[in-house]
Amino acid sequence: MVNQSLKANSVTVEFVGLRALDNVSLTLNRREILGLIGPNGSGKTTLINVLTGQVKPVSGTVTCDGEDISALLPRERALRGILRSFQTVRLFSNLTVEENIEVAAIAKGSSRRAAGRIVDRLLEEFSLGAYRAELASSLNYGDERRVEIARALAAEPKYLLLDEPAAGMNEDESATLMQVLARLPQERDLGIIIIDHDMPLIMRLCHRLQAIAQGKTIGEGGVDEVRRLPAVIEAYLGA
Ligand code: ADP
Repeated sequence: MVNQSLKANSVTVEFVGLRALDNVSLTLNRREILGLIGPNGSGKTTLINVLTGQVKPVSGTVTCDGEDISALLPRERALRGILRSFQTVRLFSNLTVEENIEVAAIAKGSSRRAAGRIVDRLLEEFSLGAYRAELASSLNYGDERRVEIARALAAEPKYLLLDEPAAGMNEDESATLMQVLARLPQERDLGIIIIDHDMPLIMRLCHRLQAIAQGKTIGEGGVDEVRRLPAVIEAYLGA
């Protein structure tokens, strides 16, 4: 059986005058939550952009379930099940909560009927039933972010890349989101990457960590192991 994972293999990214990633590799397995940590500007978002195809590396490849997908466009990768959320919310503000989620299911190729079932399940799972018919523009920030993640799940991803999903949420909103995220890998045979600065949150939720600083991997492994590495502690203190 092919290894079911999303991988960046020895990826180097250069922006004008800046090496944002230097020979970085990453493996995201199904059914796990991988925490991607590191100081601001260390290359975390760029690495996610490489996996989704938004940024092209000068060298290195991206493979999905054993297949080289380096040449595929972001929308082609999305159809293969690689989806992301952004640091800023990008919902259709003129559509309702239900419609925002439904559109994603239909875009992935679900029939209207199947999309209806997917929407019902997600509204329930994310405790969004009460907001079903509300316009996305009327939601508060925490609810908006939950709808955004529900919408990504409507396309039935295999790999979900979340860039600071809890940023701007209050403690309650963040706790609710964490409860939902924690169940997803097993329930949906899904691999999740989370970038976040909230270390208690990362430590509770993630099965593995990868730490990067100045475009290089400085540690990877179990959560307790990585957060105690001198290089990781130094990178944070020096930031
Ligand atoms: P992080 O997510 O860890 O905060 P980023 O991946 O956003 O880090 O950024 C890594 C480095 O690459 C930073 O120095 C940032 O300024 C730079 N960078 C990111 N995107 C671009 C871009 N499109 N053009 C030029 N420089 C960029």
